[in-house]
Amino acid sequence: MKKVISILMAVVMVFAACMLFSSCTKTEDEEENSTNEAASQESTAMTAKEGVLVMATNAAFPPYEYKEGDSFAGIDVEIATKIAEKLGLTLEIQDVEFGSIIGGVQSGKFDMGVAGMTVNEERLQSVNFTDSYATGVQVVIVNEGSAIASLDDLKADGSMKYGVQQDTTGDIYSSYSVDEGGFGEENVIRYKTGADAVQALKSGKVDAVIIDNEPAKSFVAANEGLKILDTEYAVEDYAICIAKENTALLDAVNEALAELKADGTLQQIINKYIPASLEDSSAA
Ligand code: GLN
Repeated sequence: MKKVISILMAVVMVFAACMLFSSCTKTEDEEENSTNEAASQESTAMTAKEGVLVMATNAAFPPYEYKEGDSFAGIDVEIATKIAEKLGLTLEIQDVEFGSIIGGVQSGKFDMGVAGMTVNEERLQSVNFTDSYATGVQVVIVNEGSAIASLDDLKADGSMKYGVQQDTTGDIYSSYSVDEGGFGEENVIRYKTGADAVQALKSGKVDAVIIDNEPAKSFVAANEGLKILDTEYAVEDYAICIAKENTALLDAVNEALAELKADGTLQQIINKYIPASLEDSSAA
């Protein structure tokens, strides 16, 4: 009898211990669930919508972002897809005007802006930027027959008009006064997309378009009768913008970017869209 009682007591004690350390009553499934919970709690903290990474872009900026039928393609789209994968999140792309990306990121409408976006002092007042993933150069597109052959031929005396994509650095630099190195705001005509600015150039509404080099090459390839001046207007760093308070996402994206740089994925993506970058290392 004594033996039976002591066995019973042992069973009760083991059971009580199990209740205390509830993990031993968990099945493997439950354990997996709790790990997932931890991961999703982490991603919830980093993004506005649970499990989703919302990227804002302006998909009229080839080869960084553009529409292919109903879907999105380009360097930024592929980089963002890889980042989302690494973070265990589903990428959602919102195609908006370039000028509304930063405001939307600040208000939390978008988790990040990935749009061939140049890091500059003014934008850094509003948002944080990740480490840079590519280099951009502002160039000048003119009509083939144009008398404009170099930057020196660009006049700010009212005789020439400059087409830019609204709110881009091309717009910002061109709009500076002559003393500051620009052409004066009154001589700049702003368009919603670079493609619209290029159409204005073709129809003679503007004399030159100031825009990033890779989109410039795409537009010149897609439109006859245009050329890019052989001068670099400004060299800039592209990075992803994220809300200032969301340092968790900033750190996570930087970590993902570092991995993509280290294992060669980033360069592969860039080379796929800009084959010449194999030689001229357009990528950072
Ligand atoms: N790099 C330019 C900027 O950041 C243009 C970007 C864009 O038009 N998508 O202003």
